[in-house]
Amino acid sequence: QTLTAVVPAAGVGSRMQADRPKQYLVIAGKTILEHTVDSLLQHPDIGRVVIAISDGDPYFHQLPLARRPEIVVVSGGSERADSVFSGLATLADDDWVLVHDAARPCLHQDDLSRLIEQAQQHAFGAILAAPVRDTMKRGDGLQSIASTVDRTDLWHALTPQMFRVRQLREAMVKALAQGAVLTDEASALEFCGFSPRLVPGRADNLKVTQPEDLALAEFYLQQRQK
Ligand code: C5P
Repeated sequence: QTLTAVVPAAGVGSRMQADRPKQYLVIAGKTILEHTVDSLLQHPDIGRVVIAISDGDPYFHQLPLARRPEIVVVSGGSERADSVFSGLATLADDDWVLVHDAARPCLHQDDLSRLIEQAQQHAFGAILAAPVRDTMKRGDGLQSIASTVDRTDLWHALTPQMFRVRQLREAMVKALAQGAVLTDEASALEFCGFSPRLVPGRADNLKVTQPEDLALAEFYLQQRQK
């Protein structure tokens, strides 16, 4: 069985305040994007990775990765959902797709295996997720606390997220047409009334977002190289 992963990598990463988009910063010997793509292609079930990059991206084609036969490149869009959607265009309706953020280089093979297994047993696909540990506050918009949010059964949505292509595509079209803001794929299915499965995953599968995340991601990757 050969699965395809779509990797949105067309973001500018402004919160990182670096000289280039965060997926092209080097940690533990290679770029974040290379770590991410390697973690997917290492898995025996994944045979192809579709990467959405922004038009005029000067970095991607310099990577050896760009010449690997398992890689397909598409043009990303102005929002994450647009980038994912252009990746989906390379897939058939009945295929399964895993969508994984370019900025999550620390994905573990055992998490990936559990996700793949569970998504296929569930009617609406599945996502990796981690239980919330901190006490959660809702603000009042003026930096005071409005309330404490009950953290029971509250989860961080991680990636990969895995769905049938037809189901994800149709859900995204419907959700976007009605003005929904999608920051992950599961939220498109939720918008249509479907409930994808939560697959508990390791919290070290972090999304590199702020400058301080770089050292942490590098530490996790180096631990594994030992
Ligand atoms: O900005 P954020 O960290 O949420 O981005 C998540 C992922 O989506 C990143 O891998 C980023 O490159 C990608 N993205 C994209 N197209 C955009 C915006 C973000 O592919 N227009």
